[in-house]
Amino acid sequence: MAPSLPSAGVFDEVIQHDAPIPTWFGLGGRADVLARPRTEEELRDLLVAFAGQRVRILGDGANLLVDDEGVDGLVISLQHLDKVDWGAGERPIVMAQAGAKLPQLITEAVRRGVAGLEGLAGIPASVGGAVVMNAGGRFGEIGAAIDRVRVLTMTGQELSIPHDEIGFSYRHSGLNHCVILSVYFALHRVPEAQQPALRERLKEVMAYKKTSQPMAENSAGCCFKNAWHEGKLTSAGMLIDQAGCKGMTVGGAEVSTVHGNFLVTRPGCNARDVIELMERVRDRVKQKFGVHLQNEVVIWRRGG
Ligand SMILES: Cc1cc2nc3c(=O)[nH]c(=O)nc-3n(C[C@H](O)[C@H](O)[C@H](O)COP(=O)(O)OP(=O)(O)OC[C@H]3O[C@@H](n4cnc5c(N)ncnc54)[C@H](O)[C@@H]3O)c2cc1C
Repeated sequence: MAPSLPSAGVFDEVIQHDAPIPTWFGLGGRADVLARPRTEEELRDLLVAFAGQRVRILGDGANLLVDDEGVDGLVISLQHLDKVDWGAGERPIVMAQAGAKLPQLITEAVRRGVAGLEGLAGIPASVGGAVVMNAGGRFGEIGAAIDRVRVLTMTGQELSIPHDEIGFSYRHSGLNHCVILSVYFALHRVPEAQQPALRERLKEVMAYKKTSQPMAENSAGCCFKNAWHEGKLTSAGMLIDQAGCKGMTVGGAEVSTVHGNFLVTRPGCNARDVIELMERVRDRVKQKFGVHLQNEVVIWRRGG
């Protein structure tokens, strides 16, 4: 029998029952309970009140596939925890709460002449979600710009973790089992004369993203992690392409013809179509190269 959830009571203003879960795929089921805390204290109180229940943290939903049956337990969206403090001096430590949107943070940093994040332009994410996934690509990973993070354990204990203890690696942070509250970025201010070059750099990164990825379609970015093949870390997109998967479809889900690692969706697509297509792609790549592709996309399932 499913454990019973605490009655909303004091959380009436932040909790919604049977709520849609916004994701970039634009599909999937609903949350039995979705909370949007307005302060860190409310977030901590929720974790304490729901201790022992299944709790999931929602960022911007850009790396998330929610199963058609939806999810049980508590989903916590951090969208209201989005303050930013820009710091001071030539080497500012910029603090962003986990719910702040990464693209806006980058645009504003460049507008202020603050460098260090522009290589991550075009990655849709909340700051917390980007750090958990150590988001990045051709122009670097977010972990490289981080001084420290503040987190809450699932029992509500607060910790400050310096960069070297976080354990960043490719699309991994070691922070999956806590809630990121805020992130401290070690950035640098560029002299006024160099600011046009910084703005130019931002445009170049955006232009690269637009030509190499189907940015205008519903997706969760890369579905699979790059994988070891013949002794080197190899682009999963290239393996998928060379296994002849581009354009493959299941129901309303399709392997993008622009970038093989992006599964895009058509109207009427459901989460099962995407999951089935992922399995077929995985099988084909395994047959062709003997490589087992691991999910980069996070899948939320009832009871899972
Ligand atoms: C068009 C498109 C392009 C993309 N391009 C890239 C790219 O170039 N490089 C790249 O790395 N990714 C890319 N992605 C994937 C996505 O942008 C990243 O994985 C991003 O880090 C997801 O952040 P999010 O806030 O949306 O996290 P979500 O999708 O909401 O969540 C992802 C995971 O992080 C956890 N999480 C979220 N916030 C917190 C928090 N505060 N504390 C603890 N756990 C948390 C969630 O529980 C979940 O397990 C792309 C996605 C799309 C749709």
